[in-house]
Amino acid sequence: MKKIGFIGLGNMGFEMIQNLNNSSSDIIGYDINKDIYQSLNAKNIKTTNNIEEIFKNCEVIITMLPDGEAVNKVISGNINYASEESIIVDCSTIDIETTKHIHNSAKKLNLLSLDAPVSGGVSGAKSATLTFMVGGDKATYNLVLPIFNLMGNKAIYCGEDGSGQAVKICNNLILAISMIGVGEAISLAKKLNLDLKKLYEVTSTSSASCWAINNYFPVSGIGPVSPADKNFTAGFSTDLMKKDLSLAVDASKNGSEFLSFLEQALEKYKKMSEIGKGKNDFSEIVNNV
Ligand code: NAD
Repeated sequence: MKKIGFIGLGNMGFEMIQNLNNSSSDIIGYDINKDIYQSLNAKNIKTTNNIEEIFKNCEVIITMLPDGEAVNKVISGNINYASEESIIVDCSTIDIETTKHIHNSAKKLNLLSLDAPVSGGVSGAKSATLTFMVGGDKATYNLVLPIFNLMGNKAIYCGEDGSGQAVKICNNLILAISMIGVGEAISLAKKLNLDLKKLYEVTSTSSASCWAINNYFPVSGIGPVSPADKNFTAGFSTDLMKKDLSLAVDASKNGSEFLSFLEQALEKYKKMSEIGKGKNDFSEIVNNV
């Protein structure tokens, strides 16, 4: 039985840890926000107020944190407590530079590490249907695969250290732009007096179909239940999407690439934050295209 520590129990981590808890492993969670503990404890999920305990006692340490700064703070601040057999698995979406720094710090201490960001949103986290994109050593990936399979239905090995984050950054660039495209189509459809239910019915099964339409159609009462049905409560916040697009900008600058739709999309999500909607779901962009 493996002892697994899970750090970061927000929108995603709160759901992921519950699926881990369905296994025979011994699970323990940690977050700086202790408000979440009560509902997890009520479901027999253990939590700790002492992050060191996780690093000292757990064979697998999973992080699901907002950004590279938080991941670096948590891992660099505590990695020295970890025992040699530990595997560090970062599932957050963060910059490639910090990811490589974490991998190198782990290697110096003879620890194993993976970058393993996810796709599938809070609904995928809840239903254990996430896709993991994994970077690091293939042998470490094979060791952790049974744990990924408890939280998702696909874990794709992408290559060397940082490859998981690189794929995730490209994935979210596509998602950010496609949601804006869906928003423009909805705006045009309204001007053309179209029934939006018909727009959904056709586009979800036609050449326009994509995740933003099929799983997340951003109009209340149409398509599967999505943040649009909850007044755009996140889900995946505009601020997190803005962060991911900034990661893409940084990554593209390193390769001297200029990606014009990336720049335009980032501007639009930044404007959403400026009008006080940073905490709302990113799909509210459809009303601000
Ligand atoms: P969130 O903000 O809801 O949760 C982050 C959690 O980390 C919070 O509970 C916060 O209290 C905790 N935290 C912050 N700093 C900490 C620290 N130093 N120590 C311990 N806990 C700390 O974010 P989320 O939506 O759960 O996303 C987490 C990560 O997953 C992000 O990197 C995001 O980009 C990525 N992601 C999110 C989604 C989504 O749909 N929400 C989908 C895919 C990937």
